[in-house]
Order: sequence, then structure tokens, then C-alpha cells
Amino acid sequence: MTPRYLCVPLFGPPGVGKGTQGGILAHIPGFFHLSVGDVFRSVDIGSESGREVYKHISRGELVPDALTIKIWRKAVEAYIALSRFKPREDLLILDGMPRNVSQVEMVKEYLDIRKVIYLRCTDEEDMIHRIRRRAIRENRVDDANEEVIRNRFRVYREVTAPVLERYDSSIIHEVDANGSPAEVLRSILDCLIPVQNELFAANRREEEQSESST
Ligand code: ADP
Repeated sequence: MTPRYLCVPLFGPPGVGKGTQGGILAHIPGFFHLSVGDVFRSVDIGSESGREVYKHISRGELVPDALTIKIWRKAVEAYIALSRFKPREDLLILDGMPRNVSQVEMVKEYLDIRKVIYLRCTDEEDMIHRIRRRAIRENRVDDANEEVIRNRFRVYREVTAPVLERYDSSIIHEVDANGSPAEVLRSILDCLIPVQNELFAANRREEEQSESST
């Protein structure tokens, strides 16, 4: 059996601030942040997979599950090969997956999910405003068109939100995304630090065991 990566997904609607927080967390040693949306946006559009991905993203639809898992695994393996992600030392902060209930089942083979961070924002108009600003800053195909944005919210409500019900409520860490970036970060770290400490402790135990057996 392949070892599973210790993982905390960042969950929440489009424009809630997952990317902003993920970008900050990516600078902290011991965390490896990966955004599935970013992985998709970096797929070569000239390839067959790239064209398929673009077709779905530009409509605000989810990319099909099998293709999502295939591209995601390839990206993770590449980061491991480059030593950018060290699964023994780093906690994987996964932004954008699982994004529907069938992905919840599919990722079980690869991910050991200890907590789920749920960024919660009730003001859809505020999130749409953030997405519009991001469209200009990041030149994203799925951010520019009002209809595509609305479709992404519909997909979130109908297909993605039910993911939360698949996890025990005791592992869901809810964060009020209306706070300042620093407040949101503090709440996210409150959740992540104990999980990261578990990883450190497990590594220490392993090292002690291997020292005592030599
Ligand atoms: P946002 O934070 O605005 O939702 P993302 O960058 O996370 O944007 O995702 C952009 C797009 O990439 C999604 O609208 C969807 O088309 C696709 N995508 C991202 N993650 C997944 C996933 N796990 N499964 C299928 N499609 C995905």
C-alpha cells in the first residue's frame, strides 16, 4: 500500500480567500500548499488533457473526476521528485479537493485527512467582488464573465457543499472568512499547528526507534 499524505483541505466557496491564505501558508516551513486550480491553470493547453481542462474551467464546471485525480497525482509526484514537497516532514494543505462527494471517496487512497478547514462567508456579493478584482490581477478565464462566476457558485452549492457532510463534524474547523487576513490566518493556524505537531512527534518516535535498534 502506498503511504498516504497527511493532509488538511482548505474548503469554501469561490472567492472566500483560500488562495490568499494558501499563499501565506506556503511560506511557512513544514507546510506544503497545493491549489488544484493552480495545477489546472498550469497544464499545457496544447495537450489533449489541457484542452479538456480548459473547456470545463472556462465554463465554471468541475473538471471530470478521473482526469482531476490523474493530473493532481502527477503534479504531487513532480513536487516530491523536486523535494519541494517532503511528505514525511510537510503537512499538505490542499486547496480545492475534494470538490464533490465522489472525490471524497477517491482521495481516501492518497490522503490521510485529519482536519478540514472550512472558510465560511455568507455574503456572496462580497465574494463576487473579490473574484472581479482577481480577474484583473490574475487574468483568469473563469473570473471574467458574470455568468461563469454565478455558475461556479451554483456548482459550489449543489455539488461541493455536500462534501462537508461526509466528514465527521468534530474534524471540521470553521473559520469566519469575513475577518481580516491576519485574523483568518490565526484561526487557520490554530487548527493546523496541532496536526503539524503530530507529524513532528511521529517522526521523532521513528527516529528514536531506529536509533535504539542500531
Ligand atoms: P476558486 O477558488 O475560485 O473556486 P480554483 O482555483 O480553486 O478557484 O478552481 C478553479 C477551477 O478549477 C474550478 O472552477 C474548477 O473548474 C476547477 N477545479 C479546481 N479543483 C477541482 C476539483 N477538485 N475537481 C474538479 N475541478 C476542479
